[in-house]
Amino acid sequence: MSSDFSLNVQGKVKRVKCQKIIGVARNYLEHVKEMGAEKPEEPVIFLKAPSALTRNGCPILIPDAIGRVDYEGELAVIIGKKGKNIPIDESRNYILAVAAFNDVTARDIQLEAKKKGLPWAISKSFDTFAPISKPVLLKDAGDIDRMDITLKLNGQVRQSSNTSLMIHKVDYLISFISKFMTLEPGDVIATGTPGGVGPMSPGDVVEITVGNSLYLRNPVVKI
Ligand code: MG
Repeated sequence: MSSDFSLNVQGKVKRVKCQKIIGVARNYLEHVKEMGAEKPEEPVIFLKAPSALTRNGCPILIPDAIGRVDYEGELAVIIGKKGKNIPIDESRNYILAVAAFNDVTARDIQLEAKKKGLPWAISKSFDTFAPISKPVLLKDAGDIDRMDITLKLNGQVRQSSNTSLMIHKVDYLISFISKFMTLEPGDVIATGTPGGVGPMSPGDVVEITVGNSLYLRNPVVKI
């Protein structure tokens, strides 16, 4: 899958390449509770392989015999400028665009890894486990701290929340992450999923809407 993004910036097509996807775990209280986890003092960060990216309309491919695979509807932020130790009040200057994102997770594999105290990387990084919508420039997206997030499975609402309910808001996430790793143009931050996560099966269709302009729809297919 291509990890390039094309964006129309003031009439010019800008291309950026995603070098890393940074996931945020446990960033909505309802989801923290449904996972039986503790509310984190600081953001819980993990990495997801950029090779897992796929686009609106493309299938989420589920390999045989990997157990339960969950959808996680999220707001994604795409970085536009290189930054390290970014002050919170400058975070917005580093966002190029936002998108709807599905942080697809092989839940059985993840829970098994957690039980053993091992990393979750495999559960998050199968090919096609990072569907992302067409990005919309930050300036055209509306207020990213007050966006409705809705996920429908086969037309039925399974997740319904608002980005105002994030435990750690976007500006803080950017500042926090940049203390440890340099953020680069094209990097994607998946800002966490609200409550209501659940399994997907081959034949299902997952739709995620964030705010008024971000929309992602993917069929689920067995391989
Ligand atoms: Mg997630």
